[in-house]
Amino acid sequence: MKDIKHFINGEYVGSASGKTFDNVNPANGRVLSRVHEAGREEVNAAVNAARAAFNGPWGRMTVDQRTEILHKVADGINARFEEFLDAECQDTGKPRSLASHIDIPRGAANFKVFADLIKNVPAESFEMPTPDGTGALNYGIRRPKGVIGVISPWNLPLLLMTWKVGPALACGNTVVVKPSEETPTTTALLGEVMKAAGVPDGVYNVVHGFGGNSAGAFLTEHPDVDAFTFTGETGTGETIMRAAAKGVRQVSLELGGKNAGIVFADCDMDKAIEGTLRSVFANCGQVCLGTERVYVERSIFDEFVARLKAGAESLVIGPPDDETSNFGPLISLKHREKVLSYYQKAIDEGATVITGGGVPDMPAELAHGAWVQPTIWTGLKDDSPVVTEEIFGPCCHIRPFDSEAEAVQLANSLPYGLASAIWTENVTRAHRVAAQVEAGIVWVNSWFLRDLRTSFGGSKQSGIGREGGVHSLEFYTELKNICIKL
Ligand code: NAD
Repeated sequence: MKDIKHFINGEYVGSASGKTFDNVNPANGRVLSRVHEAGREEVNAAVNAARAAFNGPWGRMTVDQRTEILHKVADGINARFEEFLDAECQDTGKPRSLASHIDIPRGAANFKVFADLIKNVPAESFEMPTPDGTGALNYGIRRPKGVIGVISPWNLPLLLMTWKVGPALACGNTVVVKPSEETPTTTALLGEVMKAAGVPDGVYNVVHGFGGNSAGAFLTEHPDVDAFTFTGETGTGETIMRAAAKGVRQVSLELGGKNAGIVFADCDMDKAIEGTLRSVFANCGQVCLGTERVYVERSIFDEFVARLKAGAESLVIGPPDDETSNFGPLISLKHREKVLSYYQKAIDEGATVITGGGVPDMPAELAHGAWVQPTIWTGLKDDSPVVTEEIFGPCCHIRPFDSEAEAVQLANSLPYGLASAIWTENVTRAHRVAAQVEAGIVWVNSWFLRDLRTSFGGSKQSGIGREGGVHSLEFYTELKNICIKL
């Protein structure tokens, strides 16, 4: 069986404790590899290596030299595209058609885009008068923060991890990454690519393990990490924030959501159905930006529900290597238990199950996989946990509304504020509603259309800070003002 080890100071190393855990393929329940679990010893070694590389070769390189190397990292991922694709699909069970269009190409692009962007951002400067008439000049320079702790989730493993590592390295920092225990493989594989691209030892380090009382907590408790960037659940974000408070370390938190789709009667129905289907069911509903609440103007409610049901029922459930499949399993049996508990709760609370609601029949070789049916409900009260809590599964509740004001009020009624999708052909309404929805990202007549130069992040309990474009620069560097008296 394959061993997945930590990547520390440019070498793959096992855990001194000998502790390992199984990495399971969620499509069939088979164990893919044995993963080493880091103790404090490995986390210390990784942080020390990152510090030495920051003070050493990486810190001394010019921006041009770093940019060139990061381009090679992106090329290195693309050169081993199939290997990354296989690893990601086996760890997550997601369809190859999805991972080959999103996860792996975006994983590579994150290195090129941020390296180029950061190279081209101008600094600010202000001339000022002084009482003696000679004046003074202020100008800003940016310096890397130091050692960044990167803690990432399992739903888009390579993409979300490189979304942080790309800009962190481009800005001159070094990193210690703790990938999700569910999806360690591509983060581990990236170590080989980094080495081959000429990234100095210690710049990119990986420690594997779980959250509490394991690698995740040991990393956030380590006093020599300068800042943390985290994507995951809101509750975990709170824990990380508490740990980071010791030593006043900065955090960037991309957290959970319970995103609303708002469908107006003046929408283009074909577009609204196609987009909502993707936003609810892509990646088996395990996308932080996904829609779990759909509000539809009453006059088109019945038609919308019928067409979304037909769309959900046309999804092809199957394993990643089945080219016709566009709907994979959930990440684990444990996560399926959580999702199914909401399926049950919906029934207990009197929902009308429009489609799904259970576990699909699968052939014997997939019977131990974490399969679940795409599910749509109507008829729940606004305060039902099914409507207010993030399920992170392939499901949504659809509710009618009667006015624009009511739609906005419903969309804004929860403590989350990550993303929203509005469907209307009325451009004035689109601007008006988009401005009122409390979310970090609002799409009009689309979903998951991402330009990496734009800001990304959540409001309310969906996060702190923004990454993307120059906003990543804000987090991964310290802005220093230099004032020169002339
Ligand atoms: P999670 O919070 O359970 O785990 C995320 C990471 O944090 C994992 O690597 C985990 O091991 C680690 N972790 C857990 N407890 C920790 C602790 N006490 N200290 C340090 N590290 C700890 O999240 P998940 O289940 O992997 O991912 C799904 C969640 O991520 C959903 O809530 C989803 O909305 C959210 N998410 C948000 C975004 C965004 O951009 N806002 C993107 C993707 C996913």
